[in-house]
Amino acid sequence: MLTNLKEQPKDKILGLMALYREDPRATKIDLGVGVYKDATGVTPVMRAVKAAERRIVEEQTSKAYTGLAGDAGYSTAMRDLLLADSVDPARIAAVATPGGTGAVRQAFELVKQANPNARVFVSNPTWPNHVSILGYLGIEVVKYRYFDTETRAVDFDGMMEDLGDITSGDVVLLHGCCHNPTGANLNLTQWQSVIDLINDKGCLPIIDIAYQGFGDGLEEDAAATRLVASSVPELLIAASCSKNFGIYRERTGLLMAISEKAESTAVTQGNLNHLNRQNFSFPPDHGARVVTTILNDPELKADWMAELEEMRTGMLALRQQLADELQRLSGSDRFGFIAEHRGMFSQIGTTPDLVEKLRADNAIYMVGDSRMNIAGLNAQSVSVLAKAIVDAGI
Ligand code: PMP
Repeated sequence: MLTNLKEQPKDKILGLMALYREDPRATKIDLGVGVYKDATGVTPVMRAVKAAERRIVEEQTSKAYTGLAGDAGYSTAMRDLLLADSVDPARIAAVATPGGTGAVRQAFELVKQANPNARVFVSNPTWPNHVSILGYLGIEVVKYRYFDTETRAVDFDGMMEDLGDITSGDVVLLHGCCHNPTGANLNLTQWQSVIDLINDKGCLPIIDIAYQGFGDGLEEDAAATRLVASSVPELLIAASCSKNFGIYRERTGLLMAISEKAESTAVTQGNLNHLNRQNFSFPPDHGARVVTTILNDPELKADWMAELEEMRTGMLALRQQLADELQRLSGSDRFGFIAEHRGMFSQIGTTPDLVEKLRADNAIYMVGDSRMNIAGLNAQSVSVLAKAIVDAGI
């Protein structure tokens, strides 16, 4: 039977990682895969994570199953981190999931349960896994304009025009902050217009938030999600702790589903639990417990916030250095967008051929859609990259 299987398309980013590993050039620069790296190229275990893990090893007395929704303390801690007091907790159902990907997957499955004919509107471009999971689940995808390849900012007029086609049975998927792959984000006035459209059309928003704390700060990055949560009747939120706690492989995510009325929360929660049960039964607990331990301990939380802030400001400094160096070498302001973008990524908006040229000539690895991971840079490689970009005529 297994001989019936067809080869699956290769994951482009994982393929790029393999090429990078095999490249013998000492000067190679990895701007591909989306993990944070410090100035020495290391993805560190954060101090507060280590401390929380030590505490868990010492104090945990059982590894029996948690609930189907995971540990309630985790949902509460994450709800407070992300939503603060923007919405009545009685309206929120939540389940722990294996990573943000698990939360995205469960969100789409919940949509399918609620309306098998729902279409999901996604930004063009978006994180490729959004599109591939939707395709896998047989859910129709509609792309809305998002990135202006001239200005490298959001094409807001195009976005609103395309979202004009959405209907009450449909879903709009939005990135809460630090848009992946472009780095271009809506401002709060634009978010308000999107909220007005959502309420006008009666569609369901899903917010995917995987980089809280990587853009303008923990509170600032949650501002749009809180604004939406306080302004719409229903909302799904898929959150990831992979990046901001640096616990990628622990698979730590949360799906929150906000119902219009508190009376509906129990049924929504039952559906979320059911989905977990069908897909993997109990969610992973270790990463969730680390997060909960940190968020509930003022000292650990302060240390985590300080380290996260160092990471964020380090990435912002690299953005500014790269923009400045490009300005100096090209004599033009056309790369100013790099300092405006937020999060780990910027899409520089060039062709796959030129991306390939940077790899072949300069051993610079970025994703084919010209997304680069800013955290893959350091003070030295910024100038190498800037020169290569200008030399390539980008
Ligand atoms: N959403 C977006 C937009 C992402 O960029 C990512 C990570 N690449 C995720 C969700 C999921 O992250 P994870 O499953 O690793 O928590």
